[in-house]
Amino acid sequence: MHKIFGCLLFLLISPVTHSLVILQYHHISDSTPKLTSLSPDLFKQHLKYLKDNNFQVLSLDAVIKSLHKGEKFADKTVAITFDDGYRSVYQTAFPLLKKYQFPFTIFVHTSPIEHQLSQFVSWQNLNEMAKFGASIANHTIHHRHLIKKNIHDKKKLRKTMIMAEIVDSQKVLEQKASNVLKALAYPYGEFDQQATAVVKQLGFIGFGQHSGGLSQKPDLLTIPRFPMGGAYGDMQDFAIKVNSLAMPIEQLILLNSRGNPIHHHLLDSIDKKPRLKILLNEIDKNLQISCYSSSGKKLIKKVIEKGFVFTPQDNLPVGRSRYNCTAAAKGERFYWFSQPWILADEQGNFYRD
Ligand SMILES: [Zn+2]
Repeated sequence: MHKIFGCLLFLLISPVTHSLVILQYHHISDSTPKLTSLSPDLFKQHLKYLKDNNFQVLSLDAVIKSLHKGEKFADKTVAITFDDGYRSVYQTAFPLLKKYQFPFTIFVHTSPIEHQLSQFVSWQNLNEMAKFGASIANHTIHHRHLIKKNIHDKKKLRKTMIMAEIVDSQKVLEQKASNVLKALAYPYGEFDQQATAVVKQLGFIGFGQHSGGLSQKPDLLTIPRFPMGGAYGDMQDFAIKVNSLAMPIEQLILLNSRGNPIHHHLLDSIDKKPRLKILLNEIDKNLQISCYSSSGKKLIKKVIEKGFVFTPQDNLPVGRSRYNCTAAAKGERFYWFSQPWILADEQGNFYRD
């Protein structure tokens, strides 16, 4: 190949220099609610795939330290997390993770552990797992919705609630568990500007459950994770996701149904068709991005200068949903980005108690 042409080609395709994917599991069981469960057999296959394909499984502790320092991650780096602290994590996942010597993190809400509810792990279980490479992190006390309930809710009381949910559970964790991280997984993956402001004020980092690889400089208050369980996590889906790369977005602008910029992803009930404006840098301007709504319908793509505007064909459902955007990358891999949305119902409520 001609030398100059070779250089140009190299410049046109973004080199893979950084890749981190964080996996999120709940139950590892065949007898718990399907939506949040992955079968033990599939979980075994996930771990075997990571081992056979030379993935580096990092502890979340190491991930957080590198993120704070702004360090790059080697290609094929993965972190494993579990939310809620269900018993099957100790009974089923832990022996397998121990066998593979893979570190992992459990985000627990402390109330059910304090009340010794049978479907959850005990403090003893957590401490035993901590001896073998587990770290424990914050998922609040009561697993309440941290976003406001209604678009008209007063702010002040909610800030006090969010602060107490995080600070008080952290105190309990630090008293009763070891290897405790300053990291929060938002209950239901829900956050808004007030929740992220509290997380920032406390010096924590925040994890969501919107999917995607981590960019080199991610927003440390809303880190994406790939949920595994329910419809997600068969081996084909798993292989695509653990090999995915962060979508190289230069600038992301959220637009309401009328195409005007908005500053957050919590939507009034009339805003059922929010749009996404994705701007790319010079190197990535030829990326063929496609976006899909949670219902699986493709968003309509309009080419604009330096990027695209994506408009949905169907209305968002009330409550939580996502737009998933992907683009082909080198080596049959995919860039992946997911935008969470939360749509209020006709009464202005974002969720039901
Ligand atoms: Zn949870």
